[in-house]
Amino acid sequence: MRYFEGYRCGNCERDVPAGSAAGECPSCSGPLLARYDLGILKRNVTREEFYGPGRGIWRFRDLLPVYSREISLGEGNTPLIEAPALASTAGCGRLYIKNEALNPTGSFKARGMAAAVSRLVDLGARAGVIPSAGNAGLALAAYGAAAGLAARIYIPSVTPEGVEEECAAYGADVRTIEGILPDAARAMADDGFEEGEFAISTFREPGRVEGKKTMAFEIEDELDGRTPRWIIFPTGGGTGVVAFWKAYLELEELGWLAGEKPRIVAVQSEGCAPVVKAFESGAETMTTWPVPVTIASGIRVPGSRADRQVLRALRETGGTAVSVTDEAILDAAYGMARGAGIFPSPEGAATLAGLIKLTAAGTIGPEDPVVIVNTADWTRYRFMLER
Ligand SMILES: [Zn+2]
Repeated sequence: MRYFEGYRCGNCERDVPAGSAAGECPSCSGPLLARYDLGILKRNVTREEFYGPGRGIWRFRDLLPVYSREISLGEGNTPLIEAPALASTAGCGRLYIKNEALNPTGSFKARGMAAAVSRLVDLGARAGVIPSAGNAGLALAAYGAAAGLAARIYIPSVTPEGVEEECAAYGADVRTIEGILPDAARAMADDGFEEGEFAISTFREPGRVEGKKTMAFEIEDELDGRTPRWIIFPTGGGTGVVAFWKAYLELEELGWLAGEKPRIVAVQSEGCAPVVKAFESGAETMTTWPVPVTIASGIRVPGSRADRQVLRALRETGGTAVSVTDEAILDAAYGMARGAGIFPSPEGAATLAGLIKLTAAGTIGPEDPVVIVNTADWTRYRFMLER
């Protein structure tokens, strides 16, 4: 029995059938979000069965779209590490680090790409095409290779050293574009798509959000229903924030949450903070950040195609958005390394910097349990060692 029903546009609510090749809403280009028959799922499956045995993201297939081949490189099952020393220096209650660096290709992008590439295989695609500041491109290259699917990756020239070569090692067609991520996206659009080539950029492909929801399922499973009060996530295009929000909405509707949904926090760098600016001004949409500058290339993203959904995720969960300086990010990277034994990516370090800022402001209380997410492996950011 499968419960996947198709997709619905997050903006205009147009329905798009399961199996459609549309990656975004055909009416308004809004993000397509997968829908499930949660009523029947709740009747057929218990919470214990949902979190039952198995490994990887596909054990949660009742809340994932249906694909004929579930491509996997062993993504998921990342550790949730309690960090009591960091909790006391940060001034919160129990603190856990979800260490996504242990995924294939070293980042949380693996979860989304496993689903996205499985979808492309079903569509009979020849190639997946993406602009990427690093980790998403690497994940596409690897999962494409695993599935026998070609990958074309547009990499901005400011991307950390070694990413292009590593993508090429998987056999991907790598094109380096002068500038930052939007320049790479423009180059992709200018080149166009041949038959069988599909863009799987952020929010132009509905599988990626679904795959990333499994971070929330693993946290719920591991904490055995002691849902954290806060989940802090570094935010560029916003897929992770929307994925957490959607996962908890589904769990809540299924009656599988013991308490309230966690409050979701988006962390950005002060040099690129369109979510924070929109959140603080009460806006429902974001304005593109004019000149994004930060050492954290994964969140050097000046806007989001799902800005309405990202802002709703923060507001409807009682969360917030916070920006931190690059200096605070570096401090936090060393703080996490020395206080918890995890040297994070700059984006992962930003979540600790955000936590410290929010406890100092009194937003996060001294008893509040918190999960922060180290989204990627640090080794592609060797400049962090030159401090
Ligand atoms: Zn629409």
